[in-house]
Amino acid sequence: MSHPYTFETKLLHNKYKVDPATGGVSVPIQHASTFHQSSIDHFGKYDYSRSLNPTREALEDIIAELEGGLRGFAFSSGMAAISTAFMLLSQGDHVVITEDVYGGTYRMVTQVLNRFGIEHTFVDMTDLDAVEQAICPNTALLYAETPSNPLLKITDIKALSSIAKKHGAYTFVDNTFMTPYLQRPLELGADIVLHSATKFLSGHSDTVAGLAVVKDEQLANRLYALQNSFGAVLGVQDAWLVMRGIKTLSVRMNQSQDNARRIADFLKDQPLIKNVFYPGLESHPQSYLHAQQAAGPGAVLSFEFANEALLPGFVDSVKLPVFAVSLGAVESILSYPAKMSHAAMPPEERKLRGIGDGLLRLSVGLENADDLISDFQQALYGIETAAASREGL
Ligand SMILES: *Cc1c(COP(=O)(O)O)cnc(C)c1O
Repeated sequence: MSHPYTFETKLLHNKYKVDPATGGVSVPIQHASTFHQSSIDHFGKYDYSRSLNPTREALEDIIAELEGGLRGFAFSSGMAAISTAFMLLSQGDHVVITEDVYGGTYRMVTQVLNRFGIEHTFVDMTDLDAVEQAICPNTALLYAETPSNPLLKITDIKALSSIAKKHGAYTFVDNTFMTPYLQRPLELGADIVLHSATKFLSGHSDTVAGLAVVKDEQLANRLYALQNSFGAVLGVQDAWLVMRGIKTLSVRMNQSQDNARRIADFLKDQPLIKNVFYPGLESHPQSYLHAQQAAGPGAVLSFEFANEALLPGFVDSVKLPVFAVSLGAVESILSYPAKMSHAAMPPEERKLRGIGDGLLRLSVGLENADDLISDFQQALYGIETAAASREGL
């Protein structure tokens, strides 16, 4: 299946580039839920669309190839992919999980898996000694997000995977922020890569989808059985939208990432901003590690106001980014982790993890960077003068 093309070319030229039935240069959307069988003892490849559907299968093969895996699986959301992968665990198992994990994954682990007798320990995965110390005899899984959400902390995927192997545990990596264009965790030793394809892969804020890719055949068979049992499969229209988005992944990522670099540079010099978290900044404590395992810093950054009371004024005055949950789209998206992605986390837990009330996350889109920077400039200037005039009173 894999050929010697570079990644950008593989986004467009794969075995699905031409529909063999018609020559159509787009994967046909097969709506059928069921498939006619030619005789009582001869069943075809497809029988029922929860189990296998040709349109979904195309997306599953495409993502498997891009991630360097054996098999891909498409789900109705990123959380469906993540939750189904967690179902590989059994009662009595223990999970070591990164402490600033996506809010929905936090909820799954702390409010659902715990009821099924699956225990967890949160650790700061930048600290591999802490990971080792958290491992128990029943640890079956190390779960990482790198860069993490929303503080863009970096976990050494290769080192984490080898710790997992030493203890007979799996490594799952949520690769939503990077996509396989920038980072391929399976090649670094991970067992399963997970995606919210809602984000960069589909890329246009118009689809909710999840993907998982596995490189080991036995594990792939087990995940397939769970996908079919749980049934949270991706619909065919949405599978098509994700495939459409994937075709432009590299150009979108390049533009968004260039913009993000410029905005991070701009923000780090602003007196009202205390911290900028972005692995593309030299000041990021793990920029070197990130550059070793990924081809670029990506397009998501977060920044913290020195005075959190100024944050609402900034959000009110900024005009270009949409203020919304989500990331990884053609338009820039500004979000407030404390009340959005991390609302499922109790405030004490959130603050312990450094996700304070003065933190904003920005997913940089394809706008002209000068326009974005001027917009930020006017919003910062506005709140600064408003604060100065209040102090003057
Ligand atoms: C959005 C997101 C998820 C959840 O995906 P959905 O498609 O919203 O279910 C998981 N992980 C990360 C890092 C995300 O950004």
